[in-house]
Order: sequence, then C-alpha cells, then structure tokens
Amino acid sequence: MTARGVVILGSTGSIGTQALDVLRTRRDEYRIVALAAGRNRELLEEQAAEFDVPSELARACADDPAALAELAAHPDAEVVLNAVVGFAGLPATLAALDAGKRLALANKESLIAGGPVVAKARAGGGEIVPVDSEHSAVYQALRSGAIHEVARIVLTCSGGPFRGRTRHDLRSVTVSDALAHPTWNMGPKITIDSSTLMNKGLEVIEAHELFGVGFDRIEVVVHPQSVVHGMVEFTDGATIAQLSMPDMRLPIGLALGAPRRLDQPFGAIDWTSLGALTFESPDLGAFPCLGLAYDAGRAGGGAPATLNGANEVAVQAFLDGAIPWVAIPDVVDEVLQRGTGNVDDVQDVLDADRVAREHATEAVLRRSAA
Ligand code: MG
Repeated sequence: MTARGVVILGSTGSIGTQALDVLRTRRDEYRIVALAAGRNRELLEEQAAEFDVPSELARACADDPAALAELAAHPDAEVVLNAVVGFAGLPATLAALDAGKRLALANKESLIAGGPVVAKARAGGGEIVPVDSEHSAVYQALRSGAIHEVARIVLTCSGGPFRGRTRHDLRSVTVSDALAHPTWNMGPKITIDSSTLMNKGLEVIEAHELFGVGFDRIEVVVHPQSVVHGMVEFTDGATIAQLSMPDMRLPIGLALGAPRRLDQPFGAIDWTSLGALTFESPDLGAFPCLGLAYDAGRAGGGAPATLNGANEVAVQAFLDGAIPWVAIPDVVDEVLQRGTGNVDDVQDVLDADRVAREHATEAVLRRSAA
C-alpha cells in the first residue's frame, strides 16, 4: 500500500496540530506532502523536520490565498486538510476541488461564503468530507439512510460559556470570559463565534451546503455536555446520532481516511461515568447571531458571504477591545441591512466579502468613537 499524500493548510493551529497528532503514528499510511502555517514559523519548521517535508513545501503563507491554493493543488496530494482560519481559505478550497482532491474541510467560512461557487467546483469531481464535529456526526449518521429519507438534521451546540445568561447581563462580558469555552479547546476566532452562537449559525449554513437539506429541516439544540455531536432524523421517525467525548482527532481521522475509520479510538465513552445528557432550545433573544445566520442562509446569494465577512471584522474588533461583545450581532445585522448582492462566480464572493468588511469597519468605528 502506498502512503496517501496529505497537504495540511493551517498546520500550527488547533486542528492542524491535532491532525499531525493523528498522523504521527501512521507514517506508513500517510505522507505529508506540504504544510502551510500562519505566523508560527518556529513550530512550522519543527513540523517540517519531523515529517520530512522539504522547506519549499512548508510555507508560512496562511495569509496568502494564492500560495495556499497552489499547495492545495499539489499533484502528490490525495487529501487536503483545509484548516486555515476564515475567508482566506476559499481559494484553497476551490483549488483542491478543481484538482479532484478529497477535501477534509475545517475551514467552514469558505463553504459558507462561497456556497454557490464551491458547489460548482464540487460538481467537477472533488469530494468534501467535513471535519467540523457536528457535520462529521451527520455525515456518519447519513450512512443509515438515503438523503430523500431525511426528515431533519439536528446540530448540537454546547451553548458556549454564556449559556443561561440574558442579553442584559451579557453587556459587560470581557474577552477572557468569552475565550473560556466549557467543552472545546479551539482557536480564538471560533471560540468567540461559539460564545455568540454565530459558530452554530455558520454551521447551519455549512450543513445546508454540505448535505443539500433546506433550512426548515436543519435544527439546533443546546446540549452542554458536547457528547452527542449531531443527529439525523429519518422519515420513519428513527434518529441516528453520533456520540463521543469531545475530541477533534476523531472527526479529523475520519476525514483523512474516509470512508475507512481509524483503528485507534479518540473520545471513546466510558458509559459508567458519563452521567446525564441534557438538551434544551437555544435562546435566540440573548444570542441573535443564530437567527441572523438563518436569515442570511435563507436569503442566499451574497448574504452568507456578507454575514461571514461582517462577523470576522466584528469578532476581531471585540478581541481588540474596540466594541463590546453584545455589539457583535449589532454590527453584523447593520451590515446585512445595507443589502447583499448576488453570487455567480468567485469575484462576486470576493466583492461581497470586501463590501461587508468595509461596512462592518464603518459600523465598528462609529461604535468605538461613541
Ligand atoms: Mg463545530
């Protein structure tokens, strides 16, 4: 058996380091063809040395969409793990699909903002296997029935660090409060998105794009223990769920090896100590980002790209101390209200994203000056 070539984009981040953790003991099955990181050159060089990646293929280029796309299309790669943070991952997603690769997708922003464009690229033969734990769960559950037998998809949500709080007492939360996620250890952008429930809203759009199921049949349920990751209810009333302790190495391993499973358990459950699993409805009043994402998803066209671009600016502004946490949805809402265009090609997606960022920057400046 020849080793499967893997490209890892975002190798020094949370997903990237966990992917290398999975691959570390499987050197005869997988060969790392290329690595891309952001600013952490020291760790990148360490990784390149450990996995025998030549220096010209271990690049600190996570901010350079064209360089990422070039690595994603590398002829020796069979699987591309796109774990770049944010919209900069779009060209790499398209390049991997165009080149007919298996795309292990952790960069949800590229799929959300570029939905119609990514769909065209997928039609050319490239395959997406989700890395996001909820979508990996749905991907697994979908093996139990046909897509026309799906009654609904249910995405679970930990509720983040502010579950149970009212909009009023969320006015004073700090950056460190928002970065303290109760069940998952992730990078800062996604952790803030989890605290606002925007992450779940983006995941609703991601589920729609990945599985082709309408927004009326995608539901979110708050499940603080993060053990049930996602469920599919079929037309006969059966619900198939995927359960495991929160450990991203399980969905990463499945995405790298699909349809085969790893022979090494990550997140296996000890039922005798698990305790109760609870479920409740999300509070759309305290966490308006979830509703904004449903609205943008249903509107389609440039709205998801606008939602995503505005959110990236608002989250960064919050991390920089320029706006309070409660202003994140306000900024996103204001930008969406200013209108969203249509999306036919990549340029339209880039334009929608750019305009959203300009409008969001204006909205942030006005709030931070006030
Ligand atoms: Mg997720």
